[in-house]
Parts: sequence; structure tokens; C-alpha cells
Amino acid sequence: MKSVGIVGGGVSGLFSAYYLLQEGCEVTIIERGNFADGCSFGNAGMIVPSHIIPLAQPGMIAKGMRWMLDAQSPFYVKPRISSALVKWGYLFWKKSTEKHVHYAIPHLRDLSLLSKELYQELASQDDFAFGWEEKGLLMLFKNPGTRHEMEEEAAVANRSGIEARLLSGKETQALEPHVQLTVEGSVFYPGDAHIYPNQLIAGLVSYLKKSGVRFLEDNVVEDFEIQNEKVKSVKTDSGSYSFDEFVIAAGAWSPILTQKLGISLSLQGGKGYSFLAEGLETKMQIPAIMLEARTTATPMGGGVRFAGTLEIAGTDETINMNRVRGIHHSIRQYYPDLEVDFPEEEKVWSGLRPCSPDGLPYIGRVKNFNNLTLATGHGMMGLSLGPATGKLVADTIAGNKASVGVEAFAPGRFN
Ligand SMILES: Cc1cc2nc3c(=O)[nH]c(=O)nc-3n(C[C@H](O)[C@H](O)[C@H](O)COP(=O)(O)OP(=O)(O)OC[C@H]3O[C@@H](n4cnc5c(N)ncnc54)[C@H](O)[C@@H]3O)c2cc1C
Repeated sequence: MKSVGIVGGGVSGLFSAYYLLQEGCEVTIIERGNFADGCSFGNAGMIVPSHIIPLAQPGMIAKGMRWMLDAQSPFYVKPRISSALVKWGYLFWKKSTEKHVHYAIPHLRDLSLLSKELYQELASQDDFAFGWEEKGLLMLFKNPGTRHEMEEEAAVANRSGIEARLLSGKETQALEPHVQLTVEGSVFYPGDAHIYPNQLIAGLVSYLKKSGVRFLEDNVVEDFEIQNEKVKSVKTDSGSYSFDEFVIAAGAWSPILTQKLGISLSLQGGKGYSFLAEGLETKMQIPAIMLEARTTATPMGGGVRFAGTLEIAGTDETINMNRVRGIHHSIRQYYPDLEVDFPEEEKVWSGLRPCSPDGLPYIGRVKNFNNLTLATGHGMMGLSLGPATGKLVADTIAGNKASVGVEAFAPGRFN
């Protein structure tokens, strides 16, 4: 039986453990926290096969530059002297092309559809509940000038096998009859879904513990021991642990760890915020992205979770209430009847999305180490892609044929 040590207990690490267990591996998760918080908790909970266009796309740099000047804007790059940031920015710029978008679409689609299938399988079992709902996703827009762009986006989705319907304001309102909307129109993606991420993580942790996965909590991985092109052990602040195989699924902190192994991994933390408006008197049914504001609304746990902003911030987790004000301000512009109180800072959650420069995750073996697998870089889609990522990690380590094509996700693609 192979022993596997997974560094990081977010959604990528936990799903890797879940599928490795099914391959008969003996699994240990090493996590510096205690599973009470983290990027996989407070996110918007959307499962989005609709998101087939990567963030690195034509026009994104120009949009980002305009947003940089507004303190409440949804996108920001924290200025700092960092060669890793310069390299990431250069690669992002290089990949912001039509050619890259066309290349990325089928890879993201296949990974996303596999993930949704695995979520459906999980939801049909009784192992644990996580609020699985298949109600689709609305991409709301206010600006009449956006219609053409949205029409094109819907056409790209439909051509790629992802159903998308361009709706008028009236048709959008008819889909969500109990909440007033002031929008010009929307694109409705009926194949999207949503979950309650806090329940998913808590459920997975307790299921894996019951199934024999060992959890080393409050353990910070500090270094690795290497022997003959293999990782031999991880050194944590409380001891040293040896395994046959290692997985690094440490989210935005993954490059700090790969650096210890001499592996350069281009990845930046994309900070976002969320808050849950509990007990909100609303019958909102369908999760939505408020397009111009880049803010999301997801019915969750008896309330609505609002989320947004993408601050390229390295591993800085501090909360900037100006950005939260931007999220709060946008709600009324799309949902004029929703009375949402501005949250106190203690109620605001921040998380770091692990963003690769080309919008594709890093999943697979690493050159020079034949017992090391990476599972990170999912950016805005880590929750959606969690199950498929875990499955591919398990395929890799068990030596199975990969469940979907993996060449686009090769961790060494920029080296
Ligand atoms: C505001 C916001 C909204 C989002 N909404 C969505 C959404 O609707 N749908 C979607 O699909 N995705 C969404 N995402 C993205 C998603 O949350 C992330 O992509 C995903 O959680 C990343 O999971 P991960 O397991 O790779 O990383 P993480 O969840 O960050 O887990 C990495 C873990 O590694 C641990 N770790 C790091 N370093 C060490 C070390 N040295 N030793 C031990 N442990 C270590 C960390 O403590 C952490 O628990 C959103 C993100 C944000 C911020």
C-alpha cells in the first residue's frame, strides 16, 4: 500500500485524499491551520462549468489598468518590488490572446464537466451533505453596451457544448420572480450549480477522518528532504514525516514550498472578500454574478453570501474595507429591494485564490521528482474543480490513465 503525504487541507488537498483513499492509499494530510477557515471556506460556492474562458484574455490588461485607479474597484494589483510578480505579470500579458483562450476552453470545460459529474455522484451518496443545488447561474448586466459582448460569450459557450441563454431584463426577472432586479439582461447558464462550501469542507474532513485518513493539524511544512530525485520526507515545525508519495496542494503558498525543492512555480494570491447576509428576507433562488461590479450573490445557509474583488496581493491576507464597500455598494444597483447592512470588519472573510498566469491549474508530476505531484493554481475556480483535481492526482499516483487530458495543466509549462 502506497503512503501519500498531502501538504494543504483546502478543497484540492481534501479531494486528493478522498480519491487516493479509493485507490487504496494510506493518506496523511498536513495542514498548518485547523480546518476552521481558509480559501476553501468563505468563497462564493459556485460550481461553474460556464467559466471556460480563462482570466488571461484579450482586453483584460486594459480593463485592469482602468480599475487600478478606483479604491473600490473589483481588481487591483498591490504595487511591490517582487521579481515573482513581474514574471507573473509578463506571463499573464503573454497569455492574454485569442489563441490562448481557444486553447484553454476545451481543457477547462472537460475538467469542469468531470468535476460536476463527481459532485453529482457525491451528492447522491449519503456520506455527508453540502447543500448541492442545480439551479444554474445568472450573469447579470446593466449596461446596454454589454449585450453584444455577452451575446458573443454565450455563443462561445454554446459552441463548446455549455448551454447559455441570452435573456432580456424581463426574461431574467421572470426566472427570479421574488427578488426585484434592475438589469438590462443576463446570460443564464442552466448547467451551473452551487453548494455551501463550509459544509463541504467540514463534511469532507469528518468523512476522511472516519475513513482512516491521518490529519496532522497545526503543522507548518517548512522544508523537504531529498534523496535520489525523490522527496524523502517533509519537515514540519513539530517533526519529520516520510511517505512514498507527496502532494503539494498549499494554495497561494505553494510557490514558497516548491522553491524549497528548487522548483519555480509562477503563482500569485488573488485576494477576495465575502460576507454572509444572514436572515435576509429574500427568496433569491439563483446565484448571480453582477458583471460590471464583478460581485457575486449566492443563496446560502438561509441567507445570501456576497463576494468579490481580485487583488493580486501575494500572500497578504489583510482586509481592505474600501473594497468591501465596493461589493456592498454594487448590491443595490442590481437588487434595489435587498436591504443588506454593511458588514463589520469581523464579519468579513478574506481568502487568497491561487492564480496561475494563464488561468489554468497546475496538476501533475513535477520534472526531476518522480514522487511529487502538484495540485494548485485554480484561481477563481478551485471549488468547482476540486473533485476533478483530486481524481487526477489519484490517477497520477495510482498510475491509472488520466480521467481527462492533462497536458494543459503540466506544472512545468513555463519552465
Ligand atoms: C472571494 C472568493 C470567492 C470565490 N468563489 C468561488 C466560487 O464560487 N467557485 C469556485 O470554484 N471557486 C471560488 N473561489 C476560489 C476557491 O475558493 C479557491 O480556488 C480554492 O479554495 C483553492 O483551494 P486550494 O485547496 O487549492 O487552496 P486553499 O483553500 O488555500 O488551501 C491551501 C491550504 O494549504 C495550507 N498551507 C499553506 N502552506 C502550508 C504549509 N507550509 N504547511 C501546511 N499547510 C499549508 C493552507 O493553510 C490552506 O489551508 C473563490 C475565492 C475567493 C477568494
